[in-house]
Amino acid sequence: MTNSPGWSSQLFNTYHRLDKQDSSYPSSDHFQQPISAFERFSALRDSDKAQRSLALSVNIPFCANACYYCTAKNIVTKDRSRSSAYLQSLEQEIRLVAQQINTHQQIKQLHFGGGTPTFLNPAELRQLMDCLKDNFNIVSDNFSQYSIDIDPRETDWSTMGMLRDIGFNRVNIEAVGLDPTVQRAINRLQSIEQTQTLVEAARTLQFRTVNISLMYGLPKQTPQAFAQTLADILNLGADRIIVQGFQHQPNKHPIQKRINAQDLPCSADIEQMLHNAQQQLSDAGYHYIGMGHFALADDEFAFVQEQDVLQYNLQDHGAFPNCDIIGFGLSAISHLGHLYYQNTHDVNAYKMACNNQQLPAAQGLFCKSDDHIRRSIIQALTCQFRVDFARIEQRHKINLKEYLREQWPLLEHMQHDGLLTLTEHSLQMTPSGRLFTLAVCQLFDQYCAHDKAAEYAITHAI
Ligand code: SF4
Repeated sequence: MTNSPGWSSQLFNTYHRLDKQDSSYPSSDHFQQPISAFERFSALRDSDKAQRSLALSVNIPFCANACYYCTAKNIVTKDRSRSSAYLQSLEQEIRLVAQQINTHQQIKQLHFGGGTPTFLNPAELRQLMDCLKDNFNIVSDNFSQYSIDIDPRETDWSTMGMLRDIGFNRVNIEAVGLDPTVQRAINRLQSIEQTQTLVEAARTLQFRTVNISLMYGLPKQTPQAFAQTLADILNLGADRIIVQGFQHQPNKHPIQKRINAQDLPCSADIEQMLHNAQQQLSDAGYHYIGMGHFALADDEFAFVQEQDVLQYNLQDHGAFPNCDIIGFGLSAISHLGHLYYQNTHDVNAYKMACNNQQLPAAQGLFCKSDDHIRRSIIQALTCQFRVDFARIEQRHKINLKEYLREQWPLLEHMQHDGLLTLTEHSLQMTPSGRLFTLAVCQLFDQYCAHDKAAEYAITHAI
């Protein structure tokens, strides 16, 4: 099977705007039910009893500067002393949760994100990792996925050395865009040399994986500038390159009001950026593994995708089926069996609860069997670009064609467009449809299916 997506202008024009960034299902936008501490502790104990794999995610919500394209619920401040009180609360939350489960269970995935994790100084990051090691089974076998998001403006060689020393073996470096005009428009000034230094440090220090994230469709960005940015990044030889499209949603993300809509590239330019990127990455030997992620052929994710065992959870790709995730920190998201929840966004409420030895307030939802079925379909599509009906039917005891009777006519239209192929037994993205897989996933999202189905129907006048 080739993993390089093809290209179709017609598919871009019809489906690119229906694509979305968030592939997790159910999405946190729909976490509306208050989840009590009792419910969370019960879910933790159930996870322990079922001996499901465990992942941890730690959120550091602070950033020293505001990037105008940002979608995170972060706190922008120059006051670095704020990290110390936050760290204290975070440690309380970690200890509270750890008391409820078997901490001998090996942690398969660990991720520090934000915000900017390196807003914490090196001593604080070491202290945080020590707290996690004291309370959970964090191993040093280098095969588990322990990753951290890195802002090259905030990190130097010695910080990279400290991160490797405390146990991280993967880095996600945010490069976004390298053109100075674009950088001024998004308020993020960052040179290629800063990124290059960190990649060299990561290689010297033997981090297993280096990911670099880029964004197309930014204000003042031209197809030529984005092609040059990608060419410069390709020279660094990252294991994975993530190429995400910018979506201007100022009503949802108020910081994006600083971006002038007239500075955004037109649809034809966005198409050229994505088309060029797909060609450049393919020519450089990267395989498309889904959701904007491209990986070198010898990268382990490209390999596990070939083996049909690639998964995607709230953190990252991986090969850990049925992995539960515990999120720590402000706005952190957890997934334990049927339960999904997100911690409060209110930093004062978060700190007060933790300092009183209580779990912070959280909102979430309990998945019904319908959610699990839809999630299985979306997982199969995003990670294998294919849904094998027999697998889903066996697992969930349903007749899938009957279950999807509402979506079936829309899927047939998508087949007619060349986006996918549909039989009685399977649904498979075409090579040129793979870049728009998330547009198909939206049909299965019961929380927004009506809007998207209506939008699709209008587009196609059916
Ligand atoms: S560094 Fe990342 S999280 Fe912080 S403002 Fe910029 S994009 Fe948002």
